[in-house]
Amino acid sequence: MSNWRDNVRKVVPYVPGEQPNQPDMIKLNTNENPYPPAPGVKEALEKYPVDRLRLYPDPTASVLVNEIASYYGVKPSQTFVGVGSDDVLAMAFMTFFNSETPILFPDITYSFYDVWAEEFRIPYTRIPLDENFCIQPADYKVKNGGIIFPNPNAPTGAELSQESIEEILQANPDVVVIVDEAYVDFGAASALPLIEKYENLLVVQTYSKSRSMAGMRIGYCFGSEELISYLNDVKYSFNSYTMDQLTLVTGVAAIKDDAYFKETTGKIMETREWAKGEFTRLGFRFADSKANFVFVSHERVAAKEIFQKLREKHIYVRYFNKDRIDNYLRITIGTRAEMEVLFAALEEILQ
Ligand SMILES: *Cc1c(COP(=O)(O)O)cnc(C)c1O
Repeated sequence: MSNWRDNVRKVVPYVPGEQPNQPDMIKLNTNENPYPPAPGVKEALEKYPVDRLRLYPDPTASVLVNEIASYYGVKPSQTFVGVGSDDVLAMAFMTFFNSETPILFPDITYSFYDVWAEEFRIPYTRIPLDENFCIQPADYKVKNGGIIFPNPNAPTGAELSQESIEEILQANPDVVVIVDEAYVDFGAASALPLIEKYENLLVVQTYSKSRSMAGMRIGYCFGSEELISYLNDVKYSFNSYTMDQLTLVTGVAAIKDDAYFKETTGKIMETREWAKGEFTRLGFRFADSKANFVFVSHERVAAKEIFQKLREKHIYVRYFNKDRIDNYLRITIGTRAEMEVLFAALEEILQ
């Protein structure tokens, strides 16, 4: 047998939640937003001069970078954008996690982190969450090559306090610390103000959940000017034109409509708080979630069984067949009407 296979970069890919396509389905499995993007997004697409697609997009994505920076009150030179936060995170792994010492992340967390670490040959150690599924800052005071965690964490939804984040930063001035804030807009506090104080902190966010634009692929991050310049160097050494022209104009339109953003995220938080009461009433336990999902376990019926029975009713939720969490379901917060259908189905399944 020929041996070219020996030199192939072999990886075990990340498995995203399924994207079924049934007219009557209720899709609560990938933390998408149930509301459409801001009305300005549709208008920007309709008005877009298609002739312009002949030209390459602006490699610096400056219209979008400037708009995001001004919205968050930081400098454009402290802001980086990418094709979803997955792209931003992959670039950050490649740029900042470049040591022989293992990087650290929680054992129960976003399941892409170990995939990137494997792909880029970055050694890593998983730090177990405590018995309440919380990050203990003291566990991150060991020698390491970098730290990453989501806040709120995924798939638990639990928020780590600002004091705890600072405790981790203070103990780790010699490595880059990445806070993945994919769900921060649903009621948690952002670590963004801390970038002025910690030059090694990178704060990553996305349009996919709170801005209803998972299909457009826009992620961004903030950090010191030095961190951002290193990220740009790596990005331009990989692919200069990551953000296409339609993405740039729709990204600008979405962030301009703050009233719509507040209204839709507000509705999701309101539905989530109501849903917590319903879950409790039906005998589910869960960590207090600050995200657009709740991570629930039933006192009597196995998660896998509930998952399958919901699926038969075309209600899709996420089940992870993994150590420590194989009796949990991650259920995205949909509209109030969708959640009412979910709870009616659960009542039937659990009786
Ligand atoms: C959804 C998610 C992302 C990636 O989102 P993009 O669609 O690539 O922006 C990153 N981190 C966490 C924790 C997520 O849940």
